[in-house]
Amino acid sequence: MSKSFSFHISANDGRARTGIVSTPKGDIRTPAFMPVGTAATVKAMMPENVRETGADILLGNTYHLMLRPGAERIHNLGGLHKFMNWDRPILTDSGGFQVMSLTDLRKLTEEGVKFRSHIDGSEYNLTPERSMEIQRLLGSDIVMCFDECPALPADRARINESMQLSMRWAQRSRDAFGDRPGYALFGIQQGGLEQDFREESAEALQKIGFDGYAIGGLAVGEGQDAMFGVLDYAPNQLPQDKPRYLMGVGKPDDIVGAVQRGVDMFDCVLPSRSGRTGQALTRFGAVNLRNARHKDDPRPLDENCTCPACSNYSRAYLHHVHKAGEIIGSMLLTWHNLHYYQELMQGLRDAIAAGELDAFVAQFHATRAQGDIDPI
Ligand SMILES: [Zn+2]
Repeated sequence: MSKSFSFHISANDGRARTGIVSTPKGDIRTPAFMPVGTAATVKAMMPENVRETGADILLGNTYHLMLRPGAERIHNLGGLHKFMNWDRPILTDSGGFQVMSLTDLRKLTEEGVKFRSHIDGSEYNLTPERSMEIQRLLGSDIVMCFDECPALPADRARINESMQLSMRWAQRSRDAFGDRPGYALFGIQQGGLEQDFREESAEALQKIGFDGYAIGGLAVGEGQDAMFGVLDYAPNQLPQDKPRYLMGVGKPDDIVGAVQRGVDMFDCVLPSRSGRTGQALTRFGAVNLRNARHKDDPRPLDENCTCPACSNYSRAYLHHVHKAGEIIGSMLLTWHNLHYYQELMQGLRDAIAAGELDAFVAQFHATRAQGDIDPI
């Protein structure tokens, strides 16, 4: 196992790439999907089962963990990996995005963000330096720069001002992170939907120098066309030989389109959150198991899926446990959704390696266009 952090691309197909991000805690096959373990758990899943779905890496949220149970406490208990029983790589976000989106009680200055906890109202000060410290205390393998991003739509002046602040915070994050062999720090490109700002941001980040580069400020309500518009150029503004991570994306078709455009890493709460609300994500698109059409249906959710929900249970059972609010409903559908996402990523990796990505993507869209099987 590698003692340092590195990225090796084994095949290209068009703008898409497949390869391996190596870390001392294990390899991450790319393109990679990272399940979200917000509060030191992927909700409704045991960590060993998350691994069984094919996940190589999890994402943890700095904002939630700093408030509860606290970064120092997790550090004293042996770090996040031991605390949550996941010995493979963990990426943590910087807390910036969630402070901005989750709390109204905040004050943004050059120094950082002051905010009040949504849990008990106590006051916190999050700066690039403190974010680096928290992510170090957690033991995160891939640390994200502390940044700021405006909700879209926003005017050019606001987007530029925010991007410039994020680039100053990127330098402070780099300085505070220091030299930590085996651990990686990713910069985050900002600039909204403005190509010139994205270019300026990419240049500023490369001048500082990072182990990987995220494309930030997307999936914030701009829609898929606008997002793909940015992804038509943004990945190419970043270094070819470093991993590229599209933050907070996305739906299966968002991920497929982004992989075609050269993105290597993704995270999203969608498969786990949907699993708790009765929505299955399948080859045929989204299926709402709460719908009465499934009440008497003895067939599996997807006859070709090898996950426990599809192997051992009927649509009628999945419908019943979701209607009855039984915990196993969340467990089974979260498992299925994460299994489906990881299977999709494996399909993308294999297709890129074989030089057959276009055919794979055509089949992906054709299957979705069929829609769910007809009711019995
Ligand atoms: Zn399944």
